[in-house]
Amino acid sequence: MEGRSHLLIGLTAGVVFDHFAHLSGAPLTATGGTVTLALLVNKAVYYSAVGFGALLPDIDNARSTLGQKFGWVSKTIQGLAGHRTVFHSLLGLAVGCLLAIGLEQVVIYLLSLQGYTAPAHVVGFSHLVFFGILFGCVMHLFCDALTYGGIPLFWPLKKRFGIPMENDWRFRTGTWPEHLIVWSFMIMVVFCIWKALIII
Ligand SMILES: [Zn+2]
Repeated sequence: MEGRSHLLIGLTAGVVFDHFAHLSGAPLTATGGTVTLALLVNKAVYYSAVGFGALLPDIDNARSTLGQKFGWVSKTIQGLAGHRTVFHSLLGLAVGCLLAIGLEQVVIYLLSLQGYTAPAHVVGFSHLVFFGILFGCVMHLFCDALTYGGIPLFWPLKKRFGIPMENDWRFRTGTWPEHLIVWSFMIMVVFCIWKALIII
């Protein structure tokens, strides 16, 4: 899928996910809700994290939306790993999660050495970023699974998986079915927000 499609689907799905998970705090559209600056910051951080996560797996493609921003980093990753390999697999997700959890623990440990304790709201903030990026990545893999190429879900096994399983039922990146899916999904979610079936 194209970067723009990943971003739009990721953010729209992020709205649906947050409706159920309430990660970013109280909903803005619920009647009687008090909108504070802290709540707006939470929402901004959550959706930024989801948007970043929705593009992140394509860092293994130097020509992708994110790959162009990361320049030589992306080129190096693509050269070493190749496009749609570990960054589009369950193993990649698991390693990414472990690295993020490990990084948080290292920071907490280093702060404790200095006699500091990470404030609860800062830890909560980092968890918001973590789950936002993770959700965006999962949505990226799901969207790529809809395309003709599929994804190597169980990499290093080379077999590629897709939805539906039969390649010919899936669409090629950048073709009209992709745009149809993206816009249909967005219109459906906007309709649900309008009808207050989904609150954000
Ligand atoms: Zn991808």
